[in-house]
Amino acid sequence: MYNYIQHYINGQWVDSTGNETIDVINPATEEKIGEISSGTKEDLDKAVQAARDAFPAFSQTTKEERADLLDRIADEYEKRKDQFIEVIMAELGSPVTFTTNVQYQMGLNHFRTAAKLVRDFDFTENRENSFIQKDAIGVAGLITPWNFPTNQASTKLASAFAAGSTVVLKPSTETPFAAVLLKEVFEAAGVPKGVFNLVNGTGSTIGNGISSHPDIDFVSFTGSGGVGTKIMENAAQDIKKVSLELGGKSPIVVLDDADVDYAAKTAISHIAGNTGQVCTAGTRALVPESMHDDFIQAIKNHISEYPVGDPKDESTFTGPQVSEDQWKTVQDYIQKGIDSNATLVTGGTGKPEGLETGYYSKLTVFTNVKPEDTIAQEEIFGPVLSVITYNDLDEAIEIANGTIYGLAGYVVGNDPEALTKTAKSLRSGRIVVNNEQADFTAPFGGFDQSGIGREWGDYGIEEFLEPKTIVGLP
Ligand code: NAP
Ligand code: MG
Repeated sequence: MYNYIQHYINGQWVDSTGNETIDVINPATEEKIGEISSGTKEDLDKAVQAARDAFPAFSQTTKEERADLLDRIADEYEKRKDQFIEVIMAELGSPVTFTTNVQYQMGLNHFRTAAKLVRDFDFTENRENSFIQKDAIGVAGLITPWNFPTNQASTKLASAFAAGSTVVLKPSTETPFAAVLLKEVFEAAGVPKGVFNLVNGTGSTIGNGISSHPDIDFVSFTGSGGVGTKIMENAAQDIKKVSLELGGKSPIVVLDDADVDYAAKTAISHIAGNTGQVCTAGTRALVPESMHDDFIQAIKNHISEYPVGDPKDESTFTGPQVSEDQWKTVQDYIQKGIDSNATLVTGGTGKPEGLETGYYSKLTVFTNVKPEDTIAQEEIFGPVLSVITYNDLDEAIEIANGTIYGLAGYVVGNDPEALTKTAKSLRSGRIVVNNEQADFTAPFGGFDQSGIGREWGDYGIEEFLEPKTIVGLP
């Protein structure tokens, strides 16, 4: 059992002022694995005060000191590899192979990258008659979702520490325990008291409390669009800066010269990875009309190479949805697809055979989906792919850009000119050509309703800074 019924404030565990707790469930077994405090407004106030008090000293540290701190954090994170993997598997149901290669690794990459970038980061600049100095923004409130428990928190924390900001973190109540391990990492690495504070609790109390707190200067949020709107509304009351990393409905544009097996496997891996619970997942495959039948055949041929099952099994590619609620949402969307004019290729409602316990969905592919259909427009956050056909590249680009989102886009094919034209025409924050691996120094974030601001690398650090112009400096 993981029981953390206290909050981490000013360098120590502190009793919650409330006595309500929240159960945390392993979605693969449906069993309770522990509990956390449901924090109160008073708990949050104490944490914000601690972060406020720690800010003057921490913001005056040198960038070299903060780079060294980030390297020590990365070292301590690496020492706890097995614990991170165990915890993320238990709270999220994330399969061991994915947890090791992606979940664990991404969190680490953000600390290492920030350490490297901040050494060369220019916090000052001379212009014509001005001196520009970038100051840490102050106290940041960090609110994170459950789908990448260390990655989402680490990108925010690495940027905040690099900039010299102090923080209060509220992780998702679904997956709160990875943040406890981060607290152990920070303690061992020597993060000064009050720089990192952890308050557990619900979005309605602690999340709302953060976005409306007068002593918080910046809210960095990752999660759903609806909550993003509420955060902006609250933050607007005292002109608090916000950064929002929200949802997506990203297209995979398959060019007419693409290898059809490669394209189909790319599309399956997008809905199967992390059980489709990825904001950047490519969930709309746009396929040339002439390739359609071969593409669907290739999907049928390869889908069994992505087994759904027990997260502890190394051959498992896809685990359960994070919770019963998410499972029901995914099931509803699959039913909507069945009820539409789309054609079910594989999968469907219900649990896969032999997986009656655990919130498992079937990998589900629909074809003959119209660009305007609900399953092609709304984020499902589950293993559901919509195949849409197109006649020429301009039409493909129009369909690709035809949602309220703009988080990511994918292009698969060979002709350099078509790849370039497509990649440059997609209105999204991150475009990936032929499954190229991620660049952790490059900005991450969304156009349109996928968000505001950027994370990762130096762009992420900039979010935690305020540029100050001084003219007439003697
Ligand atoms: P969510 O419901 O928006 O929750 C995200 C976080 O916000 C949780 O910690 C939640 O607390 C908290 N929260 C809930 N209501 C709040 C409020 N009124 N004020 C402040 N905070 C509040 O999202 P989710 O279900 O955890 O995650 C799935 C969504 O996140 C998807 O839409 C996905 O696309 C998006 N996402 C985006 C990115 C990205 O980088 N762009 C990455 C991952 C996920 P609780 O603990 O009470 O739930
Ligand atoms: Mg859970």
